[in-house]
Amino acid sequence: MLIPHGTLIAQMSSEQIESIKTPIFGNKWILRWESDRIMKEKLMREAKLPVPKPVLDSKDINTLVIVKRQGAAGGKGYFLAANQEDYNKKREQLITQGILSKDESLYIQEYAAGVLAYLQFFYSPLKEELEFFGADQRHESDIEGMARIPSEQQLKSNKVPSFNVIGNSPIILRESLLDEVYTMGENFVEAAKRIVSPGMNGPFCIEGVYDENAKFTSFEFSARIVAGTNIYMDGSPYYSLLFNEPMSMGKRIAREIKTAKETNQLDKITT
Ligand code: AMP
Repeated sequence: MLIPHGTLIAQMSSEQIESIKTPIFGNKWILRWESDRIMKEKLMREAKLPVPKPVLDSKDINTLVIVKRQGAAGGKGYFLAANQEDYNKKREQLITQGILSKDESLYIQEYAAGVLAYLQFFYSPLKEELEFFGADQRHESDIEGMARIPSEQQLKSNKVPSFNVIGNSPIILRESLLDEVYTMGENFVEAAKRIVSPGMNGPFCIEGVYDENAKFTSFEFSARIVAGTNIYMDGSPYYSLLFNEPMSMGKRIAREIKTAKETNQLDKITT
């Protein structure tokens, strides 16, 4: 049975996932590192990913920040703040609306502006090779909706816009960016090998933005298959260079499992 990791992490706690006795494709231990913000940042720094600066206390907010909830909340309840007063006002408003709870611990990080790019990879422990599968952009409501109305109306609105993911669309990167994309993926695989044995096996995603100098800032990773790979059910532009057949991410996973089974290496790809 193939259960997408995303389904697991949205519905089960890390403890529940780790206690599953059936072998799981990928690394079930790394999902804890995805859902805990502090551990997540540690792994990203270990992978030398350029992460936005965290702000430890709301009184220290002196630039535009994004305030996030723990875990894979899908951007719901996230908000932007420019200073502590703004932070308190919006937090209170979301608590009153029942979107945040009073004792919920929030994670504050500097806002990185630019073109969104979610970089999708697959690491094969059998071939010891990193594959770049594709990239996508997320469409998030209602922050995108806000951008469609004139500033005059935006200023009159009291609504706290959230980053709730609605869907994904493809993006093809400038070729000159691909070298760095591979380096980031490889660094992530190496870092995961060092600190979350057996490492980042299978699909994963590095998420961030490119600024005006094409410098990437990464605010997030997903240590599993992501919904954005659904765009490329019949194969992605990058995978069409690697495989002589239409290859989706699901099929790539199935192929890895089949090869591991045939060569008696299932222990290499499961935890
Ligand atoms: P996340 O749960 O971290 O994937 O964040 C959900 C969404 O919030 C992302 O898809 C981005 O649109 C936005 N976001 C998160 N962190 C940042 C950041 N530091 N700077 C800019 N946008 C961000």
